[in-house]
Formats: sequence, C-alpha cells, structure tokens
Amino acid sequence: MKDFDKLIETCLLELDKTGIKYGNVIKWKINTRAKKRWGQCRVLPDEKGFEISISKRLLDDNVPDKSAKSTIIHELLHTCKGCRDHGTEWKKLAYVVNSELGYNIKRCTSAAEQGICEENTVKQAKYAVRCLKCGKIYERERKSKLIKNPHRYRCGVCGGKLEAAFSSGGKKT
Ligand SMILES: [Zn+2]
Ligand SMILES: [Zn+2]
Repeated sequence: MKDFDKLIETCLLELDKTGIKYGNVIKWKINTRAKKRWGQCRVLPDEKGFEISISKRLLDDNVPDKSAKSTIIHELLHTCKGCRDHGTEWKKLAYVVNSELGYNIKRCTSAAEQGICEENTVKQAKYAVRCLKCGKIYERERKSKLIKNPHRYRCGVCGGKLEAAFSSGGKKT
C-alpha cells in the first residue's frame, strides 16, 4: 500500500506552489468500505476544519500515484472558500491545478481513468440487500428470493433485519 501521509504532504506542497488557499484539514482517513466514492470532504461539526477520506482502492500499489494524488487534491479544493460543491469557484481552482500542475481533476472520474482495472476489483452487483443492524451488504446478480423479499430473511452475520439496497455505478468524489 502507498504511503498515505507522504502523498498528502506532496499534494499540499504542490498546491502551495499554485498559491491556492485551502482549508484546515484536521482529519485524514482511509475509507476501506467505499466502492462508489474515491474521496469525500466533510466539514467537521464545529466548523473549525475538515475531514477528508480517500478510498483505500486508490492507495493500492498498482494504482498510479497520480490518481491518488488527484483525488486528494480534488478533495482539498472542496476546503477552499465557496468550493463545497462543484460550482464555479471549485471549477476555477480545478482548472488552475490542471493547467499548472498537470492534473486532470474533474467532477467525476471513472475507475478506468484512475488506472483501476474493474475486473481486478470487486464487481458491482446488480442487486443488493443490507443488514439494518451490522451494515453487511449481500450482493446478487439476479433478482433472487432474497432480493425480492429481504424482510423474510435475516443477516447471516448478526441475525439482523435486511432491507433492499442499491449498488449502481457512477463514482462521484
Ligand atoms: Zn448483520
Ligand atoms: Zn468533489
């Protein structure tokens, strides 16, 4: 696995070169569960700083550093003033980063663009149910009995109730 701290440090140094003023990131997290998101930026409840999480998939040694870094910078841009969404301000800064630092930061990036071969990773199932108690996801390719009537079944891990869940594509960061 890549050295997350080192990647963060490099990104901060690179951003400093552009003069972009990013916010105060108090927490950096590796998200081991996210399949649909590459990264996420959250304002911490006291509004004094941000928490950024990056998908563990991007920290795999087989993935180019640039992919992990572009996601880190994508999220860092969300900490800038007026940049919580992908509006005009965020786009302006993304343009600066892309042209000055040679990135290709966009609103949405596919797995292929990140240098991740989907065949080697978890395939996104068509149907899914989720345990209400422990959160375990049961994925199915077909509309099985379990998918049709999740309430008739119980979680194999904890015995909790199940509910329908969706696992559709489209990775937003
Ligand atoms: Zn469960
Ligand atoms: Zn974003």
